Amino acid sequence: MNQETGKLYVVATPIGNLADITFRAIETLKNVDLIAAEDTRHVKMLLQHYGISNKVIALHQHNEDKAALEIVEKLRSGLSIALVSDAGTPLISDPGMPVVKAVHDANLIVVPIVGACALIAGLSAAGVAITPFTFEGFVPRTSSARQTFFSERANILTTWVFYESCHRVLDCLRDMAIVLPPERSIVIARELTKLHETIIKLPLIDMLALVEKEANMRKGEFVIIVEGSPKMDVSENVITVEQERILKLLLAECSVKKAVELTVEITGGKKKPIYQAALQITESEKLKIE
Ligand code: SAM
Repeated sequence: MNQETGKLYVVATPIGNLADITFRAIETLKNVDLIAAEDTRHVKMLLQHYGISNKVIALHQHNEDKAALEIVEKLRSGLSIALVSDAGTPLISDPGMPVVKAVHDANLIVVPIVGACALIAGLSAAGVAITPFTFEGFVPRTSSARQTFFSERANILTTWVFYESCHRVLDCLRDMAIVLPPERSIVIARELTKLHETIIKLPLIDMLALVEKEANMRKGEFVIIVEGSPKMDVSENVITVEQERILKLLLAECSVKKAVELTVEITGGKKKPIYQAALQITESEKLKIE
């Protein structure tokens, strides 16, 4: 590695509370030759707060690949550069990936300067099993795509977490309630580190009612955490191929209630898993039609 080249520092910044920044991050922002920012005005507010006057360049969101090559050139010329996004850890649902990749490809050094990240803050305070967990970023924006997305994850045993905007949080929970069982645990971690920070864990059905009722629960920034599906006792909760075949035939002819009753009667199976299967079948048929 050439000693004369600069390093790229990936610097986490606060997600609300300006005090949530490390000494090392401040020192780095002071000492680098350049700060490459998602939005120059945004980072300037932070720099002003900490009395840092350093040169800021825009990390052109629409042509990050070009910006990445320019940053590599600057690093090669010996400049050290800090990469920041508007809030939290760069690259986590934020720009920066092409830059970090290009710097690696050029065999130059990338140094993470750790700090705030909304999904980690939310998970740390959620009180649900988080090892392992899956981070989904932002979920799809349209209702039918969201329902498909949720139904694909309905039976995952591990916790999953995603970001959602205040404009879609209610519709998102409504779609989730169509697909997931009402008792599934959901955590909303809202406005983390800010004045109106709220972290609530409830069964899905109660969470939906709360967000419908309380306008404040539809304001601000959201991390949503969904506890994984409970482990099924295979012998108890899985329906047989034959039960499913009969259920499907009956669902084509009668209501869910009747189809479930008849399937239980004909096959001697348990009502709960047959009922769950009926809901999943009708839901996936509906999605196909949409
Ligand atoms: N890079 C950021 C991070 O490290 O968390 C995430 C950036 S992403 C563009 C912004 C989304 O993160 C918001 O829409 C929200 O879902 C989530 N988020 C950011 N700050 C938050 C906060 N203070 N409380 C809850 N969610 C937050």
